[in-house]
Amino acid sequence: MRKRVFGSIFLTALVTLLVTVSLLLAAVHVGLTHDLRDRLREECGYIAAASAEGGAQEFQRIGRVYADRITVVAADGTVLYDNQSDAASMENHAARPEIASALETGVGESSRLSDTLAEQTYYYAIRLDDGSVLRVSSIADSAFGALSAASPWIVLIVLLALLVAALLASWLTHVFLAPIVALDLHEPLKNDAYDELSPLLHRMDKQNRRIAAQLRELERRQAEFDDITARMDEGLVLFSAGGEIVFANRAVRALFPKDGAAGGYLTLCRDPEYIRVVEAALHGEGAHGRMERDGRVYALSANTVEGTGQGHAAVLLVVDITERDQAERQRQEFTANVSHELKTPLTSIMGYAEIVENGIARPEDVSRFAGKIRSEAVRLLTLIEDIIRLSRLDEGGSPTLEPVELLALCGTVRDRLAHKAAAQHITLTVLGAPVTVSGEHATLEQMVFNLADNAITYNRPQGSVTLETGTEHDAPFVRVADTGIGIAPADQQRVFERFYRVDKSHSRASGGTGLGLSIVKHGAALHHAAIDLQSTPGEGTTVTLRFPKAE
Ligand code: ADP
Repeated sequence: MRKRVFGSIFLTALVTLLVTVSLLLAAVHVGLTHDLRDRLREECGYIAAASAEGGAQEFQRIGRVYADRITVVAADGTVLYDNQSDAASMENHAARPEIASALETGVGESSRLSDTLAEQTYYYAIRLDDGSVLRVSSIADSAFGALSAASPWIVLIVLLALLVAALLASWLTHVFLAPIVALDLHEPLKNDAYDELSPLLHRMDKQNRRIAAQLRELERRQAEFDDITARMDEGLVLFSAGGEIVFANRAVRALFPKDGAAGGYLTLCRDPEYIRVVEAALHGEGAHGRMERDGRVYALSANTVEGTGQGHAAVLLVVDITERDQAERQRQEFTANVSHELKTPLTSIMGYAEIVENGIARPEDVSRFAGKIRSEAVRLLTLIEDIIRLSRLDEGGSPTLEPVELLALCGTVRDRLAHKAAAQHITLTVLGAPVTVSGEHATLEQMVFNLADNAITYNRPQGSVTLETGTEHDAPFVRVADTGIGIAPADQQRVFERFYRVDKSHSRASGGTGLGLSIVKHGAALHHAAIDLQSTPGEGTTVTLRFPKAE
């Protein structure tokens, strides 16, 4: 802009200057020519008048002293006299415009440029009384001649004019542009430059405000996105079409701490499955995979975001499916175990029934076999009941909560197990303070029943079982302690697994299903209760269920 403004002003100044100078020169030239003509006309008149009195000798007398040229031409165009040339050698002048005009009208004038154009000759002719024509002429510099004569000066003047024009243009450019250069574009309306800029500044202000609003909105959305992705448990990674990691959320950075989360997709993880899934998405095909890392299982799901000429941007979701995976495996194991566990009593029942049916059994044994069939059927029923309980707990869902008083509940359990305890000579005691928790009565009773039942089953003769309730640090608890065989440390976690038994035959013989503690574990989870198992082989076991503090 500065260059353009400077150029425009400079050119305007220069053109104005040159036009003015040219017009001035032309005006001076025209004035001078005009004077010359007047002079020639006057002098021609004098010479004619003198020659009328003095005759042809007068021409020669005047011609000798006269600075300009005098020519006398006969009516037929023959040159009779010339004060600067030999008249005899001169060609016929009848065709010269000034002579022809003078012969015809009495006066004539003309001007002719020299061959070099540097000089211009002015002619003035009048017809004399004798019919001949007197012509005076004078040579003056032509306009071109005058210009070329003055050319060094002209060059100097033009150079000076150029300098002045340049200085003037530079100063004007500065003065003109200074307010524009000083514009505060952040606050356009505070500027006081040119009125003509006002619409532009208003528009700029409007756009500034719009851009600021859009920026705020963008920042808000970015913060929202960051907030959401930071809270996500799932790992989220965005890849550019070139495979560069554009974004990785907190979960991903926690998952791949050593590898870092900047640069290409290979810098994040080198797992073959991860590489396969990401590369597939970068090539435009969504892919899923599974990856194990630090003992945990992750599901990988990569999708193409957009396709361009150079490739595809992709998004990868990493979900920790360890629990889901374990649950799935447990379910499969459980189904296999259930089938096996159901088969055992049924095979026994079929065996005894066949013996009785075929009449192989002695009459006195029939009732014993019927008893066996019954006890196996009871076992089957217990097993099915436990399975139903467990799958109900497995389904989750929200429990129907009610206030349950634990001391009374322990009393009920004691009553239900009194017979079994007495049969094994085991003392069953309930003690502690009444405490109420919010829960499902039937499930809680089943849990305490299972614990107490185990405490009796895996006890020693003359042993004891104590059911205790109360609060510790404001948290309700129920504790079942026995003086039984105890559980080896290696088995202490596993006993809560489905169908896990330390001693299979002992458990079976005592009617155990291997599901009792699983039910306790699921029931505890349902009630947000923690299970604490303390056991010393040969001394006894204490299981405590700690419930959350009452609100
Ligand atoms: P089961 O029906 O076999 O008793 P559980 O799930 O209730 O199944 O218990 C799993 C295993 O844990 C039992 O088979 C037993 O070996 C062991 N166990 C449970 N409770 C006790 C206890 N109080 N004392 C010793 N061992 C126990």
